[in-house]
Amino acid sequence: MTTQAIISLLALLLILVAVVFRVLFWPGMRIARIQKRAFPDPWQQTLIDRLPFVANIPLAEREQLKFLIKVFLADKKFYGCAGQEINDDIRVTVAAQACLLLLNQDRTPYPDLDSILIYPSTFVATREVANELGLVSTNHIAMLGESWSQGKVVLAWDNVKKGVMNLQDGQNVVLHEFAHQLDHESGSTNGAPVLNTRGAYRSWAHVFSEEFEELQKDVVRGRHSLLDHYGATNPAEFFAVATETFFERPKEMAAYHQELYQQLKDYYKLDPGNW
Ligand SMILES: [Zn+2]
Repeated sequence: MTTQAIISLLALLLILVAVVFRVLFWPGMRIARIQKRAFPDPWQQTLIDRLPFVANIPLAEREQLKFLIKVFLADKKFYGCAGQEINDDIRVTVAAQACLLLLNQDRTPYPDLDSILIYPSTFVATREVANELGLVSTNHIAMLGESWSQGKVVLAWDNVKKGVMNLQDGQNVVLHEFAHQLDHESGSTNGAPVLNTRGAYRSWAHVFSEEFEELQKDVVRGRHSLLDHYGATNPAEFFAVATETFFERPKEMAAYHQELYQQLKDYYKLDPGNW
């Protein structure tokens, strides 16, 4: 073997070692480093000021939440739109609610999500809509939040503040949009996130389709319902709305939508009714 060949072989070996290290060991080392970092006092203050319910979460889960917030904020980029400035108050308020959906799951926060765009208030989204003749027109829709499958969540800051201030009204734009992110992870946004077993999909489909139809009937008859009528739009919106209700009005959901509550309790591995 020539010297040239030996050098090439060594270089190849070195690259291989670097790739194995990057893939197998680096993520774990990085997470361990983040875990060791203290949770900054100003972030703690944001939790106290904006998310007082966090104090009612059992200690072990509260510590998990702080760890998830640190990982989330190390990984995700925030961008201010339409003049909105980004600060830690905004970042922690969004991250804390997004990470609430991930407690007890021992997973990386939203691996497909890259960035969060924050508008000061309601923003206008432009949509191409085709009519039944196939003619495409451009629609402008006022939005409070939006979740994209291509790694983006868009939020209106005034609505984020309003949603978290009243955690009993069943309306929370952050929980809603991040439930859509979980839904995207299954490959299609259809109201069923990734579940562990085939049996879990079966009972999820059974309970969710029954409850979805019930909500559609409530809308048609103009009947009041615990779940927001917007959930009757399609199964994906139903899952997002059910998630808001699960975290914001758990006791009523457990009483009036027992099976739905049980499905969400199994999926989120939490019982917010005890908080
Ligand atoms: Zn939605």
